[in-house]
Amino acid sequence: MLNDRFGRRMSYLRISVTDRCNLQCNYCRPGRDVFCPIAHEAVLSFEEIARVVRVAVSLGMDKVRLTGGEPLVRRDLPDLVRMLKEIPAIRDLALSTNAMLLERHAKALADAGLKRLNISLDSLRPERFRRITGGGKLETALNGIRAAVRHGFSPIKVNVVVMRGINDDEIADLIDFGAGRGIQMRFIEFMPMCDGSNWSESHMPVREMLAMPEVRARLADVPAEGDGHAAARYIPLAGGKGEAGFISPMSNRFCDGCNRLRLTADGKIRPCLPADQEVDVREALRTGGTDEEIAGLFRGAVLMKPEIGVYNFEKKGRARSMVQIGG
Ligand code: SAM
Repeated sequence: MLNDRFGRRMSYLRISVTDRCNLQCNYCRPGRDVFCPIAHEAVLSFEEIARVVRVAVSLGMDKVRLTGGEPLVRRDLPDLVRMLKEIPAIRDLALSTNAMLLERHAKALADAGLKRLNISLDSLRPERFRRITGGGKLETALNGIRAAVRHGFSPIKVNVVVMRGINDDEIADLIDFGAGRGIQMRFIEFMPMCDGSNWSESHMPVREMLAMPEVRARLADVPAEGDGHAAARYIPLAGGKGEAGFISPMSNRFCDGCNRLRLTADGKIRPCLPADQEVDVREALRTGGTDEEIAGLFRGAVLMKPEIGVYNFEKKGRARSMVQIGG
């Protein structure tokens, strides 16, 4: 078992399969001039990822998410899904995607055995979507979501990073979008993970989202004003149309119940999202390290996990932005 110094058990591994992305959301990645993608030869192969996962699973981890960058820009990703589906102890395998390439790959992913999808979608307005994503086409994302529904993915969750003055007026429309399609919408507070983002101006706490009259009108179980204490709240929608999630990584930290480790595309175990400490596993993979040695690297990484993740609120350089970690 992978227990940390504070009694938390690690069960969830988030794997970034690439730091490359076909969108350039300004809250997620630094500008082109600063962003320098990992060299191809430094990126873990599917065989290397599967080996790391087998070791993680032997230590009690049982939930895996593939993320990026944009995981679907990595060629033959369904092959990795197939390899991971062969590891019986993984009870939950999921993919996070911006859906730009989903229409093209949905069938192959479904055939490979993937069921769970999280899709990022921050606006339903084409021009706004283009601006937030640095040139993305809304219709392409919507076609990807339609393809996911058609191919029977379930659950499909849509993540919205809510930004004040940018898309906070669309929460109600986005709730309606999900309700009509059996998709769970999740509204997430903007985190200060990238130098290019205007964190302090754009951050909106969940309690403000839940105070909007048009949002409250859509919720069956309307929370009392100021009652926003859980880190993630799933609230039933009016009319029995499902539920919407409101996730507050900033105003109510998840740290207490954190069960996550991350594996970066270049093979570093990252014990805490905002903390820049990492443990290199690639060296062991490529120099004949045994599974026991790799397990030791996991145990060491878990001991480095801080009790509370500390975000850098100033625009000082971070070692990695969100696109390089995987969210
Ligand atoms: N490309 C994939 C996608 O769009 O889902 C996977 C990678 S992306 C880094 C994973 C998630 O992180 C997305 O839902 C994205 O919106 C979220 N994210 C990125 N930067 C963020 C930030 N500064 N605050 C909150 N969420 C962020």
